[in-house]
Amino acid sequence: MPAATPLSPLDVKREREKAKKEARKKWIRQNGGSGVTKAEKKAIRESSNCVWCSAPADETDHLFPLSRGGPDEVSGIVASCGRCNRSRGNKLLTEWDWTRVCRGLLSNDAVGRELARLSGEDKDPTDHIPTGRRPTHT
Ligand SMILES: [Zn+2]
Repeated sequence: MPAATPLSPLDVKREREKAKKEARKKWIRQNGGSGVTKAEKKAIRESSNCVWCSAPADETDHLFPLSRGGPDEVSGIVASCGRCNRSRGNKLLTEWDWTRVCRGLLSNDAVGRELARLSGEDKDPTDHIPTGRRPTHT
């Protein structure tokens, strides 16, 4: 019996990426299908630079991550560069880099809407701001 060829680290990585993509597709199918077309995503990418860092946008980012139960809707998607998109992963805005979130807040209204939605779930909307940066209540 021939020994199985061991997978190279690259193969393992590729397989993992494939599985991740499949899982994402399956998730989208189960949750009412992809509401956003490729053309719509392209339009979003081309409409602005990365809302988080102003670099040229080559990806789109769901403000409320799909994997966390967010909707696949044009209104909840912003232009993002790959670096920011990967940095954020499936974090909620309140769990991510506050500096970039603030920049996004200034460049896209949808970011403010998502933060408002998130703070509706919190008692104190400044809870997620790192201590030291919180506005002082007078
Ligand atoms: Zn960026």
